[in-house]
Amino acid sequence: MPQKTKHTPMMEQYFEIKAQYPDAFLFYRLGDFYEMFYEDAEKVSQLLELTLTSRNKNAENPIPMCGVPHHSAANYIDILVEKGYKVAICEQVEDPKTTKGMVKREVVQLVTPGTALGKQETDAKQNNFLTAIVYDEVSGHYGFSYTDLSTGEMNVATLLDEETVQNECSGLRTKEIVIGSDLPHSLLEWFESQSIVQSPQTIGEIESEFSYLMEKVEDELAKLSIQILLTYLSTTQKRQLSHLQQAQVYEPSHFLKMDYYSKYNLELTQSIRSKDKKGTLLWLLDETQTAMGGRLLKQWIDRPLLKLSAIKERQEMVEILTQAYFERMDLKEYLRHVYDLERLAGRVAFGTVNGRDLLQLKQSLEQIPMIQSIIQGLDNGQFGTLLEQITPMDDLVSIISESINEEAPLSITEGNVIKDGFNDELDKYRDAMKNGKQWLAEMEAKERQATGIKTLKIKFNRVFGYFIEVTKSNIQDVPVDRYERKQTLANAERYITPELKEMETLILESQEKSQELEYRLFLEVRETVKESIERLQSLAKSVATLDILQGFAEISETYQYVRPEMTTNQSVIQVDNGRHPVVEKVLGSQEYVPNGIEMDKDTMILLITGPNMSGKSTYMRQLALTVIMAQIGCFVPAEKAILPIFDQIFTRIGASDDLISGQSTFMVEMMEANQALQYATPNSLILFDELGRGTATYDGMALAQAIIEYIHEYVGAKTLFSTHYHEITTLEQELKGVSNRHVGAVEENGEVVFLHKMMEGPADKSYGIHVAKLAGLPTNLLNRASDLLENFESQAVHTTEASDTDIMTEKEESLTEDVSQLTLFSEERPESVEVVNDIKKLNLLSVTP
Ligand code: ADP
Repeated sequence: MPQKTKHTPMMEQYFEIKAQYPDAFLFYRLGDFYEMFYEDAEKVSQLLELTLTSRNKNAENPIPMCGVPHHSAANYIDILVEKGYKVAICEQVEDPKTTKGMVKREVVQLVTPGTALGKQETDAKQNNFLTAIVYDEVSGHYGFSYTDLSTGEMNVATLLDEETVQNECSGLRTKEIVIGSDLPHSLLEWFESQSIVQSPQTIGEIESEFSYLMEKVEDELAKLSIQILLTYLSTTQKRQLSHLQQAQVYEPSHFLKMDYYSKYNLELTQSIRSKDKKGTLLWLLDETQTAMGGRLLKQWIDRPLLKLSAIKERQEMVEILTQAYFERMDLKEYLRHVYDLERLAGRVAFGTVNGRDLLQLKQSLEQIPMIQSIIQGLDNGQFGTLLEQITPMDDLVSIISESINEEAPLSITEGNVIKDGFNDELDKYRDAMKNGKQWLAEMEAKERQATGIKTLKIKFNRVFGYFIEVTKSNIQDVPVDRYERKQTLANAERYITPELKEMETLILESQEKSQELEYRLFLEVRETVKESIERLQSLAKSVATLDILQGFAEISETYQYVRPEMTTNQSVIQVDNGRHPVVEKVLGSQEYVPNGIEMDKDTMILLITGPNMSGKSTYMRQLALTVIMAQIGCFVPAEKAILPIFDQIFTRIGASDDLISGQSTFMVEMMEANQALQYATPNSLILFDELGRGTATYDGMALAQAIIEYIHEYVGAKTLFSTHYHEITTLEQELKGVSNRHVGAVEENGEVVFLHKMMEGPADKSYGIHVAKLAGLPTNLLNRASDLLENFESQAVHTTEASDTDIMTEKEESLTEDVSQLTLFSEERPESVEVVNDIKKLNLLSVTP
């Protein structure tokens, strides 16, 4: 910090305020600008590409400074917050005109990544959650809560371990976490690695009006986290938070559990290739018409259900909607006219709502009776609780339609917000204004007549008010006894008369009064709406739910999905002609080869072999997505589906970047495998794609086999295991629960065509040689390869114990010998030596697969 002593009073004030916000950029209001000083200025000027100047250029130590105009500050603030910074907005809280000496300034809001309301229009279907956490060292548990400030929804849980905290934060895409206690170092490091902004906060007094928010929360640790969250909100936001909703207690264990990597690998809501949602399950399923529906859908996908009755309830409603085409089309149309009720409610609470927002609210609410009647028409008890909450709010509709002008401007202080006829006093002022203007027009005509000056005009400006303007060429006709000269211009003179000034007072007064009155009336309407916030919020939730369900119905019909039959405790999977819904959508249904999957209660592990690019991993993902779709209540891409309810899904599916990072990837692979082996239950689903390929062949093969045996023996989860270790397909004979599958391929006009079709049994072992033959390799080479293959196989021993790669097994030694003999060929064909050399020269770390 620079020396304080020699500074101006203004800079003194700056330091005082800045000291309270050391971790934020202080946007210090000076007239029409927000200025930043010192390090803030240096950093912000870089981040926003602003010019860095200095405040007292000629002084010994000039103060670095940069600034942004206040009217465009919002954009700059958004950018900074988006980049993970905090911005303290410091305003002049006194009118400089009426203040002697220094104007008082205060921070009116601290904008942070988790509280930014930024670009709500573009991010309409995104939540921005602020999370809070406290840790209890004794139990090792965490109190965890989160809220979206724009909608006011608030949730809280007690989380039992660090991993769950990470999963929750990832699922919510937390950008900022409020920390209310010491946390394990490893967790802090994890936040760091995920670029989650950490905001330490001590517990403050919670305003009594907030205590009801915690009414449903019993657990002390959970409560504490809400207190932290609320304290943080009131210190940063410094404004009305009356739209915060009662905290809902949730249990992560009540939902299908998937860790962050599984969600990522399965591309549920986030694409691996790009930042947007294209190609994800969310992208496929999002046929929602409202922003609220879009946001809720993402939450549903993140948390598939476990309770049979709840799953069935959703499926039931989807089924009815699929069968009612015309009703659904109407419903969709009405939903399309529903604006973001949740965020509108939020704006009402913040006091940032304007006339147009209220009109949007009205338009949205006007759809409700129609929506309600459509659902009533379809309902035979299936829409039960949902229908109860879809109740019209006619009271609000009439208040708004009586009061708010259909052409209300964005501003709420400049008039024209309130309708004629809503308030007598306002009507009187408006009459006066209108009559006044009429009177002016008449006066103009009268004066033209009296003076004979045809170009005489009555005009208005802010400095002089109303005046009569006469061009220079006509001033000889001005009645000097009646007109008083006010201003001389180059080619005209301006005059006033007492009666003109009298009328001016009347007009301006009524204008001013009417604006004041309008503002007051608007606030009254806003307050009335505010009383209904809770009702609005619950209506919004139900509309969002209905919106998702109609979307599910729409998709199910478009892509011919079926309602899955959900079972408990049967452990049977039967999916007839299933498809990977996203790949199918991208390829088109003509191109996609459907594949069934059948696993009776005794089949635990499907061992899938087949060449690269034949569709193994697509097949595995297909099952996972089918399961998730079923458990969020949607129909599934198949002709028929019987599915158990899975409690967890574990995946180890290679991402494309695996090839690059080598050794460490294998570690990750093993860690992920370990998660599955430790935590999977017989009700879980495990997907292992080419597990073990990250290490030496025999090493990997040994591990793969041992893992399969372990799952078979101790875990009992339904498992799909793809492998190119042909050798382990013999496990089918040894282990009762293991069954082989392979992806078929045929030869067509001398080319290998992958059928993408799953078939019983292991893949043809000499498949590679077969392809080589098709590619036209020399016959003697192919013969040699066949001999070698036979040789390898005759020596093949199960090498489960051979996990130490340093010791070369007998078999591997003999392999080396055999392989070295292959060089015979290269002597005959020198060009192959070149190829080999070329290959050797390749930098494998920098080429694509
Ligand atoms: P593998 O895991 O065997 O290497 P992938 O599952 O990655 O193969 O699939 C390779 C390609 O084949 C994918 O790009 C996918 O588009 C296509 N594919 C996979 N399964 C099918 C299918 N059932 N029908 C049509 N194309 C498929």
